[in-house]
Amino acid sequence: MNSIFSDAQKRLVEVFRHTALTDDVQEKLKHPKLSMCVSIPVRMDDGSLKIFTGYRVQFDDTRGPTKGGIRYHPNVSLDEVTSLSFWMTIKCAVMNLPFGGAKGGVIVNPKKLSRLELERLSRGYIRAIADIIGPKRDIPAPDVYTNATIMGWMADEYAQIKRQQLPGVITGKPVHLNGSFGRESATGRGALHVLQEWIDLKKCHAEDLSIAIQGFGNAGYYFAKLAHEAGFRIVAVADSQGAIYSREGLDPTKLMQHKQEHKELGTMLYCDGSVCDLQHYHKLSGSELLELDVDVLVLAALENQIDKHNADNIKAGQILEIANGPVTSAADEILAKNGIPVLPDVLANAGGVTVSYFEWVQNRAGYYWPEEKVNARLKKCITREATAIFSLADEKKISLRTAAYLQGVNRIAGAISQQGTREYFLNT
Ligand code: GLU
Repeated sequence: MNSIFSDAQKRLVEVFRHTALTDDVQEKLKHPKLSMCVSIPVRMDDGSLKIFTGYRVQFDDTRGPTKGGIRYHPNVSLDEVTSLSFWMTIKCAVMNLPFGGAKGGVIVNPKKLSRLELERLSRGYIRAIADIIGPKRDIPAPDVYTNATIMGWMADEYAQIKRQQLPGVITGKPVHLNGSFGRESATGRGALHVLQEWIDLKKCHAEDLSIAIQGFGNAGYYFAKLAHEAGFRIVAVADSQGAIYSREGLDPTKLMQHKQEHKELGTMLYCDGSVCDLQHYHKLSGSELLELDVDVLVLAALENQIDKHNADNIKAGQILEIANGPVTSAADEILAKNGIPVLPDVLANAGGVTVSYFEWVQNRAGYYWPEEKVNARLKKCITREATAIFSLADEKKISLRTAAYLQGVNRIAGAISQQGTREYFLNT
């Protein structure tokens, strides 16, 4: 089986060609600092006991406490969580946030659980990893199939374990439970700022551009909604059950209303309805959507969606990665050869963790900001880092991904070498 983590590491080899990094840095970025595998016993509603497997991987904490979401998915594995924790390390450094990277996951199909089972699982996961997390150590957040409600349960469980209120242990909480305004829409909003900055550079206009979106979860939906409001034409949307197409353009808010009407009854947290239930639109398969001739292809689902098998069929003008790792390193090369730029995940989806950082700051200060302030600060931070990456790519004639990694890795390297023991042992 192909390892996601070894593929993720291939990007570093390319980065190391463009920057002189010590062996210490190269060695450190190859290994996670801490990997934890836990069994989570959950009493099911029928009285039976079920054991779920969960992970938390802290990749590197040189720049600060580790940060990264928790994923609930049947395909979660240690390899996947390790890769995601590595990407979080790069992402936080790309955004210059004072965090290292981490990730967590539980092997589960949460749509098959009742709401109480899901709450027991979420609390059980926090009990299992409580010793290695904390506002100054490792700060989880939502990821695929986890959300504000689940973060609220987890924060409460942690407060009970520690016998004190420590809201900064987890971000992406509900606004009524010390969450931040603007966190829910932050990933989609940040991605739109990155795209806007990119098209401004290319002297293009939103009204002239068509977009196809793979993935209609939290990030994909908010991106679609905000992009639609900004004047882009969303011509196709796919969720896990299939895709729809409309040449004239789709209204994301209407699509979401439809999905919400069909909330499954178990947890009331996930939607059962699919965009493909909507009768009056042309239906596509998920892979047909990827191969549409659009200006922007947005990947907002899961990793490894474009690989060496389908990369040559991609006709989009550019790709925006809202999911983590949706393009493999082999596909990167094919897309580059075909002249298709990729706005990389570690920049394009960094709006989420940036507003998580704002939430953590607000929790620690005990002083809460209005939504306009959160949104304005997000725009300022992500636009600043995007502009720097675009000029670095142009100056060095490298891909946007390599430029983003270069920016992140140089910051991590600075921290590692200034903390380091190497000079001491070399006696210099
Ligand atoms: N899960 C999100 C990501 O992959 C957010 C992480 C966070 O807010 O800490 O970036």
